[in-house]
Amino acid sequence: MSFQPITTEDKARAFDELREIKSLFASRGWFAGTSGNLSVRVGDYAPEQFHFAVTASGKDKSKETPEDFLFVDQTGKPVEATGLKPSAETLIHCEIYRQTGCGAIFHVHTVFNNLVSERFWERRSVPVDGVELIKAFNIWEEEAHIDIPIVSNYAEIPRIVPEVIERLDSRIPGILLRKHGIYAWGANAFEAKRHIEAFEFLFEYVYRWELLNAGVAGK
Ligand SMILES: [Zn+2]
Repeated sequence: MSFQPITTEDKARAFDELREIKSLFASRGWFAGTSGNLSVRVGDYAPEQFHFAVTASGKDKSKETPEDFLFVDQTGKPVEATGLKPSAETLIHCEIYRQTGCGAIFHVHTVFNNLVSERFWERRSVPVDGVELIKAFNIWEEEAHIDIPIVSNYAEIPRIVPEVIERLDSRIPGILLRKHGIYAWGANAFEAKRHIEAFEFLFEYVYRWELLNAGVAGK
């Protein structure tokens, strides 16, 4: 396969999509303390060669600046002259693109995703039973049961990658890092947004359901 150069308008479109998602998620408080990162893939794709636009490391994502995003290749290295650094977690984006061929990946740290990742750490997955929003993942069975994978959260990102590969579930477009956050993806930014919103809804549901049951049991 011969790779076509990425056009200026494709790049501009990717930045526009990221900017819109970034400001929406920032308004929900999903980027506490500069955490979280977003990426959108651009141009041709083969598992061994692709490019994506990603948020730069260490920026306040509630602000808009000319230094918010950069382009990187399949190894996470910048493909244009830039003083910006991609987030250290870009390597996880690289691996998810390589494994799934998806078009966009969003990552946020929230209190609910952290709490449920710890609550269900021993079973290495968060169980969800029969909640309507499971359909957001195109799983249409009635009373569907899903298990959202949880992987270890090591300080060195490359150590996390093999576990992500091992635990990816083709039915579930997301993976939780223990006491860290969720990575969710989709064919494009629109679908990745739908997926991450569904995950966050389900995490809050599971958290409240557990609490409700603990309360009832305690009486
Ligand atoms: Zn993170």
